[in-house]
Amino acid sequence: PLANWNGDEMPLDQVRVSVLDRAFLFGDAVYEAIRVYSGRAWLLGEHLQRLRHSLKEVQIVADVDRLHERLARTLANSDVQEGVIYIQVTRGEAPRRHAFPKEPVTPNELIYIKEVEPSPTAAGEPRPGMRVVTFPDWRWKRCDIKSTNLLANCIAAEHAEVNGCDEAILVHHDGSVSEGSRSSLFAVRAGALLTAPADESILPGITRQLVFRLADRIGLRVIEEAVRHETLTQLDELFLTGTTTEVAGIIDVDGRPIGDGTTGPVTAALQDAHHRAVQEWLAT
Ligand code: PMP
Repeated sequence: PLANWNGDEMPLDQVRVSVLDRAFLFGDAVYEAIRVYSGRAWLLGEHLQRLRHSLKEVQIVADVDRLHERLARTLANSDVQEGVIYIQVTRGEAPRRHAFPKEPVTPNELIYIKEVEPSPTAAGEPRPGMRVVTFPDWRWKRCDIKSTNLLANCIAAEHAEVNGCDEAILVHHDGSVSEGSRSSLFAVRAGALLTAPADESILPGITRQLVFRLADRIGLRVIEEAVRHETLTQLDELFLTGTTTEVAGIIDVDGRPIGDGTTGPVTAALQDAHHRAVQEWLAT
């Protein structure tokens, strides 16, 4: 993949960084992942806005407009048509101590463009339904910040993988289900969509927000109310959303089928609406 490292373009495997970078020592960095369709960055403004929020909340000072320019240049030079743009901004390199460096430190800014398989919906094929496991939400209390501190997410994702599943959905100690390890969670109950409110306990998903707009278009009500662990398998439909996940039906939770064990009709309608939204934007 082609990378942009602090403004210089180079192959990703040639980027080198100090072990004293605070991202290595403390996970002291924030990031974004943006989908590329037909060589264009989808929902770019929304992602850059969320990046600004993450940077501000962790007090890393970086020039997002400059990152935007670099991203546009490197995306064009990469020639990637179907891909994902990864952006990471670390606090920078400094002697190891917990409190932030008091001497001026320069953030390390990484962008790289990775090629991905075109989504099945682009070829008019249905996206396969996902099997998920539940796992405790071990994360910190500021999940609205898209930080690279992802150990709890990684452990949950590993638990899903070793159990032959596609994703783990995270259960709070209060019994509510917040989101997936790398995706947002929605349910369908009596014809309305249900999803956890965007407070500090979840990442405000860009695709989640898009689904709100798509739901509005097709006349579905959205209720911001967390799904309860004990009622999970009684819901009509469950689905995940995310930049690379797009809209994906959940067909099985902890070995128990959801609905009739296939992607439900409301989920399918939203997948179709998602696909149409991308096509309409590409036509502009
Ligand atoms: N929640 C978590 C924890 C995530 O990591 C992601 C993917 N970045 C999402 C939700 C989905 O967010 P988005 O739609 O912005 O990709």
